[in-house]
Amino acid sequence: LVRLRARLARSQNSLGKGLLTLLSREHLDEDTWEEIEETLLIADVGVAPTQELVERLRERVRVLGTRTPDELRTLLREELLNLIGTDADRTVRTESGLETPAVVMVVGVNGTGKTTTTGKLARVLVADGRSVVLGAADTFRAAAADQLQTWGERVGARTVRGPEGGDPASIAFDAVKEGIAEAADVVLIDTAGRLHTKTGLMDELGKVKRVVEKHGPLDEILLVLDATTGQNGLVQARVFAEVVNITGIVLTKLDGTAKGGIVVAVQRELGVPVKLVGLGEGPDDLAPFEPEAFVDALIG
Ligand code: GDP
Repeated sequence: LVRLRARLARSQNSLGKGLLTLLSREHLDEDTWEEIEETLLIADVGVAPTQELVERLRERVRVLGTRTPDELRTLLREELLNLIGTDADRTVRTESGLETPAVVMVVGVNGTGKTTTTGKLARVLVADGRSVVLGAADTFRAAAADQLQTWGERVGARTVRGPEGGDPASIAFDAVKEGIAEAADVVLIDTAGRLHTKTGLMDELGKVKRVVEKHGPLDEILLVLDATTGQNGLVQARVFAEVVNITGIVLTKLDGTAKGGIVVAVQRELGVPVKLVGLGEGPDDLAPFEPEAFVDALIG
């Protein structure tokens, strides 16, 4: 975790550092506030949250009068945390509370890191002593099932898969059936979620969801978003949120971007907490999203 924090800090601190530098200027004139606003927008914080934050910072800086670096750091930390929110439940629900396994469906546009995230999550769970079955319901991308199976073999989880181009819903159904038969703790289902059209997506994911729910409740629907895609990611998020009831967000590729502000924008937009972050391609590069650690990394 320390290593992950360091990695996050390396890639992220340009936002926090930039803001601190600007706030430390002797004269906070209109130009400086505009620069602060720009810094936040460039980091993908989003228009409404940026305005809200700038307003609060202006007010607090005014009340503060003279500003020591420590005071500014504390103030910025508090306001960023306020924006991100610290009281959301960010645990991934992997305890069904029933005899049957917990079922987690992973959705998102191809290339965002869905399959990798599913594999990493399996690894975390297995390392925690839980038994996992993987459902390779991404039958659209030819290599997805192989990729997931490789993850499964690596971490020690069975992968249920079907023929290439097969019906995702029937694979999801079989995966849950297998999970029940094996008395597994968790079934993770990787989906295709092609964003060809909204009705197409709805048909596909809706069917997977309905079929899985024949066995019992779906405990978690994680939406995977690539942090480097900025506004595009938000557009995707909106469409997915209309189609399925997303319960958590995974932001991937946060290691490769200074655009950590997307954490704020996407939560505000969907009202759904970021639960996990992807910080690299390796098996250990998945971390729980912790607002305090994230903001500390941002500020540096
Ligand atoms: P999918 O099509 O959504 O299933 O995407 P994949 O899981 O195949 O991931 C697409 C690419 O992104 C692969 O090259 C992954 O190794 C890479 N990737 C996934 N997550 C991360 C991450 O958190 N950081 C980085 N740097 N790369 C990632």
